[in-house]
Amino acid sequence: MLAASFVVANAASAQRAQTSPDVGAAPNWDVLLRGRTHAPTATTAAITAADLKTRLYIFADDSMQGRLLATAGNAKAVEYIASEVKRMGLEPMGDNGTYFQSVNVVDRKFDPSTHLTVGSTTFTPWTDYVLRDQGSNARSLDGVQAVFGGTWGDSVSLIDPALTAGKLVVLRVNPNGVTQNSGGGVNRGVVTRHFAKAAGIAVASLEAMPPQMIQLLQQPNQFLKQEADPDLPSFLYVTRRVASALMNANIDSVRTGAVGATVAATPRFSEFPTEYPARNVVAVIRGSDPQLRSEYVAIGAHNDHLGWSSRPVAHDSIYIVNHLFRTGGAEDRPPQLDPAQQAQVNSLLADIRRRTNGTSARPDSIYNGADDDGSGSVSALEIAQYFAAQKVKPKRSLLFVWHVGEEEGLYGSEWYTDHPTVPRDSIVAQLNMDMVGRGSAADNTGITKEGQRYHGNPDYVQLVGSRRLSTELGDLAEAVNKSEKRPLSFDYSMDVNGHPQNIYCRSDHYEYARYGIPIIFFTTGGHADYHQVTDEPQYIDYDRMARVSQYVADLATKIANLEHRPVVDKPKPDPHGQCVQ
Ligand SMILES: [Zn+2]
Repeated sequence: MLAASFVVANAASAQRAQTSPDVGAAPNWDVLLRGRTHAPTATTAAITAADLKTRLYIFADDSMQGRLLATAGNAKAVEYIASEVKRMGLEPMGDNGTYFQSVNVVDRKFDPSTHLTVGSTTFTPWTDYVLRDQGSNARSLDGVQAVFGGTWGDSVSLIDPALTAGKLVVLRVNPNGVTQNSGGGVNRGVVTRHFAKAAGIAVASLEAMPPQMIQLLQQPNQFLKQEADPDLPSFLYVTRRVASALMNANIDSVRTGAVGATVAATPRFSEFPTEYPARNVVAVIRGSDPQLRSEYVAIGAHNDHLGWSSRPVAHDSIYIVNHLFRTGGAEDRPPQLDPAQQAQVNSLLADIRRRTNGTSARPDSIYNGADDDGSGSVSALEIAQYFAAQKVKPKRSLLFVWHVGEEEGLYGSEWYTDHPTVPRDSIVAQLNMDMVGRGSAADNTGITKEGQRYHGNPDYVQLVGSRRLSTELGDLAEAVNKSEKRPLSFDYSMDVNGHPQNIYCRSDHYEYARYGIPIIFFTTGGHADYHQVTDEPQYIDYDRMARVSQYVADLATKIANLEHRPVVDKPKPDPHGQCVQ
């Protein structure tokens, strides 16, 4: 699932502090004694925990290097999926009769020929200013006049955006409006949309940006390149000195609407092909009804994750800290432990060391993404194998898509839905699985809109978006569950309008929903290992994954056999607008 910091619709979705203790069931520290390897067994037609376990230990293995977009590890993971669907006999539905759809991801890197000059002073990149990548059609700043836009975070002080068209808007930042982990930054997407007609935006907060972040921003940036990238303002973080030069006045005393200098500037990024391809895997199980087989029920997951970190951490130690004091994982800020808390961690760690004769200590740098989204990826494979083995297939066809680059910003699903390999209108519903392997009573699966932490249970699964386009689809999901031998318990709390975590906008299903395709997002929710190196296969609940997979297969069967496609009775979003939950 996409990190909250990527979601630009709602500034409140930035990381939250764990202010109250987590009152879920006590963590089971014995899982730290579990083996990290698993001898694979031959997978069978039935959807089983054993099959899922075999698949996930392969897919989330360290050798996949965290499956980061356009890396060797991701390429290997994608090839594993394709070889499996080929073995099962699915029909290829990617590019040119293959199982792969190439997604147009490019590397973009700061172009050192960029310059920024005010009067006779030429400023130095990375010291005086940092240029952020706004895509290939970022507007030029050459000969553009600066105008003071007020203080971001203090809406009363802000200039009327209409007065900034074609100008370079200089902004101060309200110290209270800068979140602790944003590194002095503002929500670039929100600021960009607010001043959409400006030639450029210069935010005077570079002094607050940590050197590590400035270093990180100098690395190439992977970018989904569409045929027509939107025209956007150029975006700069600048020092107060540069801001004052731009305004010909002290940045602390200048008034909103004041006109500043005319700048000479050529902000530029250069573009390169990525070293490894970015690919979706696309495959079809053909339906049995001569008419309905040209319509599709789509089942999806994402094949990528976060890669690796150059700063290894002690695995058991970070596991214990997070399960006690950061139960939302990366959704929460890193905790500052007091001495008593540190002592509690040390004592638990010593106990694990004693019980493993010291052999459990290991540094860890790989984001295995066993749950995110190894779980959804192998569940989709298991569902594909289940249908592939059926003698009589469902009436409609089943379209399986394993999307790439979800973690970078839903790249693969954006690309697939913009460039579908079957007619877009022939997709009658999309069922997305992202993080379906956890959900225990000890896992902090989510928060209420009011901020109360809550937890899973043995039958737990979250449904998101199930009635946002089609009441009928949401009702079908309920009816199919009631007919299961042991029904799952559905949690809709994360799906309420205006929920600060914005989950509806944070996985691949939304890219289908924006085109009016009814979707359901299935997840067992958040946990302490979310976007941490501790998201590993030995912590997964395979029995629950099998139940969720079987249920999704049963629901897909129901939809595929309906005499009509699920009725869309709710308004469709603007496909190129901003997602709003
Ligand atoms: Zn994720």
